[in-house]
Amino acid sequence: MPRRSAVLRLKRDREARAHVHPWIFKGDVADASPVEPGSVVTVLDAGGRFVGRGLFNPRPALCCRIVTWQDEPVDARLLGRRITAAIAARGQTVPVVGRLVWSEADGLPGLVVDRYGPVLVVQCQTLGIRRMRDDLVAALRARLGDLAVLGSDDPVVAGLEGFEPVSGWIGRPGPDEVIVDEDGVQIAVRPGSGHKTGVYLDQAANRVRVGAAAGAGDVLDVFAYTAGFAVHALRAGARRAVCVESSAEAIAGARRNLELNGLSERAEIRAVNAFDELRRLDRERARFDLVVLDPPPFARSRSALDAALRGYKEINLRALRLLAPGGRLATFSCSHHVDEGTFEATVREAATDAGIRVRLLDHLPQSADHPVLLTVPETRYLQGLLLELA
Ligand code: SAH
Repeated sequence: MPRRSAVLRLKRDREARAHVHPWIFKGDVADASPVEPGSVVTVLDAGGRFVGRGLFNPRPALCCRIVTWQDEPVDARLLGRRITAAIAARGQTVPVVGRLVWSEADGLPGLVVDRYGPVLVVQCQTLGIRRMRDDLVAALRARLGDLAVLGSDDPVVAGLEGFEPVSGWIGRPGPDEVIVDEDGVQIAVRPGSGHKTGVYLDQAANRVRVGAAAGAGDVLDVFAYTAGFAVHALRAGARRAVCVESSAEAIAGARRNLELNGLSERAEIRAVNAFDELRRLDRERARFDLVVLDPPPFARSRSALDAALRGYKEINLRALRLLAPGGRLATFSCSHHVDEGTFEATVREAATDAGIRVRLLDHLPQSADHPVLLTVPETRYLQGLLLELA
């Protein structure tokens, strides 16, 4: 592997950020050696001093991600050490369910590894990481034992990076479905199917927290996916749940989870558009003791931010109006362009416009296995608030 031959030199005003943030965009680059896409380059500042070493791909706008700020080779041994550190950071025992490696936040930009019991799902998000996949899988098996490993690449990301996305078992096949235990609740996962790598692991702690706050009344789980929040709330003692979800595949998963937990009788799934349903329920003056709003990211780019904030405001305004006396709202944004302050301000505006006073019971951040780097704000993408009618 070339250690010093391939270099990428930064523009003068782009250097400070590169010491604390691994992303280098094409606009940050003064010049770069012609190298095979997906290979290692040494990143230099405008004066030719060493900054770090990363994986380079001239195709996407985000063309290089720094892997190390030390003068060391980026090879299978380094990535293996990073995997060891990521697993160790999750606690004394290796988690049976959860995210074991999370890209930039674990010093492995472009690699996501999720564990569902006997199955690991490996997602490569850059060409450089994809090229090292066999070594990475060997390193994971050496540390975790002979688990079934599913490669599950996101086709959109693979298209941007210029590699063929693979979805399939690497080595021996594993099960189509795994039932995981989430604090006493059974959740069915079809590894590599549906959203993320199967379930929203980033919301695991919040499902438990919100379930515990549900009380004994009626629940409205909006943007329900596989009804994780509703199942937790019902198991914790809620009377009845209405789940709103537009995707047929997600609804099938929701039915499966309700049935697994013996809750089918107490839940109704509405296969409708959440915006329309919130408006309809508001007109109908329906009331719920707990409303959960967990929409997909409305702002996928900075230019979409204003429209996204209008969307968040609209659904939060409706949801607040649906609360019964003493009712609670768990509301989320998973757009990394919407920071904590902006989200809180948007929900405050919704409450102000609705003339509704709410108490802030809790912040609901992403699960701890999705760690946050202060200097990489994109790692803190999930904002959540637990509110109660005052
Ligand atoms: N709360 C879930 C995750 C929700 S993800 C959990 O913890 O598992 C967001 C969900 O919203 C997705 O399942 C998506 O299919 C659904 N969705 C997106 N737009 C929608 C719309 N307009 N109406 C209803 N559901 C929608």
